[in-house]
Amino acid sequence: MSHSRRVFLAGATSAVALSALPRAAKAASPVELPKLPWADDALAPVISANTLSFHYGKHHKAYVDKVGDLVRDTELEGATLEALITASAGVPERRALFNNAAQAWNHAFYWRSLHPKGGGKPPARLAALLDRDLGGFDKARADLAAAAVGHFGSGWAWLVQKGETLQIVTTANADTPLTAGLKPLLTIDDGEHANYLDYPNRRADHVNAVLDKLIDWRFAEANLG
Ligand code: MN
Repeated sequence: MSHSRRVFLAGATSAVALSALPRAAKAASPVELPKLPWADDALAPVISANTLSFHYGKHHKAYVDKVGDLVRDTELEGATLEALITASAGVPERRALFNNAAQAWNHAFYWRSLHPKGGGKPPARLAALLDRDLGGFDKARADLAAAAVGHFGSGWAWLVQKGETLQIVTTANADTPLTAGLKPLLTIDDGEHANYLDYPNRRADHVNAVLDKLIDWRFAEANLG
């Protein structure tokens, strides 16, 4: 798993001044469950509608709902998800808010990292950066798979940009590259709940199928800074 490293959060992130928090244009909460960018059976058989019904419809929705509960009638109500993550990262009394907000963000980004016509080879600009920074597409793909499969417990494998450079990193549970100064390009949810209905006890098969059939390299390229 060379090229893979764990992202550690910076220690004491001070709470962001509330006046500095970006606010949504409308009064309604900007933190909502985003619509899936494809039909709920469009990723089958790799990710079935049944898996999505609980992974998106239950788990992801629960994180979003919990964020709403935690900020309602507080000074944080109306802040965007990204602002809530920044305002709660490393703040012990906001740990529950951080966990739910970051899980909500990570899951929304995960769905956008997948596409029914995904897989295949990355487009030219991203391919050139994979050549330069990660030993080429085949090695980067293998290292991303190894990062997702080898990660202990529940978490995420990410292709990120640190400054100009591509890296593969993992985060545990709710942790997110956003708080480590990294720009996420794509992610794979490596939690058991992401695969066990469709690939019981075959995590590696699931991850490889996601990479071969669903991962959206065009989305990753579009996220390049
Ligand atoms: Mn998940």
